[in-house]
Amino acid sequence: MRIDLHTHSTVSDGTDTPAELITKAAAAGLDVVALTDHDTVDGLPEALAAGERVGIEVVDGLELSCSRGGQSVHLLAYGADATDGPLATEMAVVRDGRTGRLLPVLAKLATLGVPVTEEQVMAFVGSSPSVGRPHIADALVAAGHVADRKEAFDRFLADGGPAHVSRYTIDVARGIDLVHGAGGVAVIAHPWGRGREQVLPPDVLAELVAEQGLDGIEVDHQDHDLAARTALRRLADELGVIGTGSSDYHGTGKVDHDLGVNTTDPRTYARLIELQRQRAADRARARVGRMSG
Ligand code: AMP
Ligand code: FE
Ligand code: FE
Ligand code: ZN
Repeated sequence: MRIDLHTHSTVSDGTDTPAELITKAAAAGLDVVALTDHDTVDGLPEALAAGERVGIEVVDGLELSCSRGGQSVHLLAYGADATDGPLATEMAVVRDGRTGRLLPVLAKLATLGVPVTEEQVMAFVGSSPSVGRPHIADALVAAGHVADRKEAFDRFLADGGPAHVSRYTIDVARGIDLVHGAGGVAVIAHPWGRGREQVLPPDVLAELVAEQGLDGIEVDHQDHDLAARTALRRLADELGVIGTGSSDYHGTGKVDHDLGVNTTDPRTYARLIELQRQRAADRARARVGRMSG
């Protein structure tokens, strides 16, 4: 059984529609795939329908923009109901922050001599409710300023880069609470990717498990070298949380992130499903408690 728990569609910053993504996942021999678009669940109905059609299991996921001490942290959620309630409300605030950041970034890019217009970016955003830097990168490529998304990030858009503008994110401890409150399982995405080992060292991950009930960490990810994977797998075991593996597929938007390039062990996935049942039951109990209290 081949399981990939982290992918992006055109509903955020991937380049395949949810149906295309699921169809490709089936063709790639995957049995289970989670759609985890950034700060939106709008792609899930299409993905779930496609899963039924092509005969693979689609997990309802999302990737929440969080932070710790001002540094970006991504939180994957599985089985969370993000259609209403506090999680949905906060995700809408995050999306507003994404939209509001666009013009300030474009102003910086113009100053840097690589202008693109809002219209040029919106052509790549399309109907996505989650405006991302990769869409700005695509516009920079189309305008001939850079060769690909990677060059756009390396030269301009990366965190701390000359055209970077920060946006609203959720403290990761609160993010975990919001995911649990919505009946979902919370897993930190690529905890040691792109310099995040400074933001999420082992003691911080241990604290998030002990105090927030963090459910898991993504271990096998292309941003983790072999040493990071080995250390994170050991840490997940020590902390008694699940350690997942995923592609973080973005279609043609991210090279070397092909569907199934990393996968999650079936026993780990079984634990995730069991955790999701518990989180959903906790949520139902909390709701009954609120109604009777
Ligand atoms: P944003 O969601 O606007 O904060 O932008 C972050 C997204 O940009 C991540 O989810 C990645 O998909 C993408 N990204 C970050 N760094 C790079 C990079 N060096 N090359 C290509 N894409 C990147
Ligand atoms: Fe992304
Ligand atoms: Fe991420
Ligand atoms: Zn991702």
